[in-house]
Amino acid sequence: MIILYNAQIYSPVQSSAIAIRGDRISALGTDAAIRALADSHTEQIDLKGALVLPGLTDAHLHFEWFSIGLTFVDVETDTVDEALKRVAERAKVTPKGQWIRGHGWNYSRWGDEFPTAAQLDSAAPDHPLYLTAKSMHAAWTNSLGLKITGITTNTPDPEGGKVGRDAQGNLTGILFETAMDYMTARSYSGFSDYKQTGKIPDHTSEDVAQAMLKGQDVAWKVGLTGVHDFDGVRCFTAYQLLRERGQLGLRVNKNIPVAYLDQALALGLRSGFGDHWLRLGNVKVFMDGALGPRTATMIEPYEGEPNNYGIAVTDKETLYDYGRKAMMGGLAMTVHAIGDKANHDLLDVYEQLRNDESQLPITNYKLRHRAEHLQILHPDDIARVGKLKIIGSMQPIHATSDMNMVDKYWGKRGVYSYAWRDQLNNGVVLAFGSDSPVEPINPLWGIHAAVTRRRADGSPSEEGWYPNQKLTVSEAVDGYTKGAAYAAKMEDHLGTIEVGKLADLTIVDRDLFTCDPMMIRDAAVLGTMVGGEFKFRTL
Ligand SMILES: [Zn+2]
Repeated sequence: MIILYNAQIYSPVQSSAIAIRGDRISALGTDAAIRALADSHTEQIDLKGALVLPGLTDAHLHFEWFSIGLTFVDVETDTVDEALKRVAERAKVTPKGQWIRGHGWNYSRWGDEFPTAAQLDSAAPDHPLYLTAKSMHAAWTNSLGLKITGITTNTPDPEGGKVGRDAQGNLTGILFETAMDYMTARSYSGFSDYKQTGKIPDHTSEDVAQAMLKGQDVAWKVGLTGVHDFDGVRCFTAYQLLRERGQLGLRVNKNIPVAYLDQALALGLRSGFGDHWLRLGNVKVFMDGALGPRTATMIEPYEGEPNNYGIAVTDKETLYDYGRKAMMGGLAMTVHAIGDKANHDLLDVYEQLRNDESQLPITNYKLRHRAEHLQILHPDDIARVGKLKIIGSMQPIHATSDMNMVDKYWGKRGVYSYAWRDQLNNGVVLAFGSDSPVEPINPLWGIHAAVTRRRADGSPSEEGWYPNQKLTVSEAVDGYTKGAAYAAKMEDHLGTIEVGKLADLTIVDRDLFTCDPMMIRDAAVLGTMVGGEFKFRTL
């Protein structure tokens, strides 16, 4: 048994101490009452007033993409020399001939000249290299990399891409856009699984599993005890490998790309299949693009672009067909929708599906359908999400990252964007996440964004961006705990600190509820417990 006492506990039960037996919370109460339960084998930990939250769950991230990224050499540096130094260091500990991957360079930070293969040759001549730019629109390789992939001066520029050449026609080592596909599949989009297009051996499930061990460590340090994953099926296998080996230390809700809907139905898999560590979530579909590239679908055109309404990825009829099929097999949907048109169409389809559902002979059937992002809604649609009992899966940090783009591309419509207060007021269960690695994985940064609607530097103003959408700290915390548990249909076991629930806890160094909201972002995690075991602790 473990006893945590002298704590500030965020729980429906007034208490200052928690007893944990096995993987569950066995008692809550005063220090005296709980410490009286101790025997000689009990570890008693004085939390010195630290805050204990239910374990934080990131309800939308790309954990494979995040974890694989951790294995890459970080070349997001101020100088090209620093990047070369890091590559050389990695080469020293990597067997000769093995590929070294890196990510994050930006030539405009390096004096506005693209780096060259020759520079990389000087750092690591015996390893093929593949370093993607921060923008993902270009990659930088060395002579060995070019040789192994068979790229020569005779290699043509592919459609939509360019092989970098100097004035004499010699290869520079930079591949632009689709020319990157000569070497590898370009990115982890999460649309489906990744096609092997180039010569660099793709990551196996085992590679992903190994990378996820690193990913878990990072997740625990920022207080995460669970994730809802939005990558493909390769990482589903990786999670299973970790689970088999007793190495999975995060609760995983695994959503699957719609490309596998038929296979999932053929196997008779239903949302919720699995156990408390790894369970099947929903079927993921994309309705539209994103705000940055102005491909999210809008009812009215983008500001200053009278013909741009965005790009629809899936139409209503197709989405309904998927949803209907999935529903009949007991699979819930989870649909990426950013623009107000995408969300409008999505809500129409959910309305139809809820209607169909009510005709089914089985009662108590309501599937935990989700809307991913809900970034902007038409005012007529705001109340529909709650009415249809759709889970609002939102990422608070997107609001503060995107606010300038919203002002520019959506103009006055921004008042209806990232409107979690409106959704909460309409009875929506919010499940909060980061969309990592698109945004940083730290859930405390998300709580800060939800509560302040300001960036770390305090911009845009003291009151925050569209401040009427701010949440209280407990509402924000609930998005990462209660709401996330509900979205995974795990609310009987997770999401609050109560006797009988799984002992997943996040211990933080300060009282988030009373500290200056701008300081929430700097809060440090002192301990992360999953299933009664500390996965990270400085206590
Ligand atoms: Zn995502």
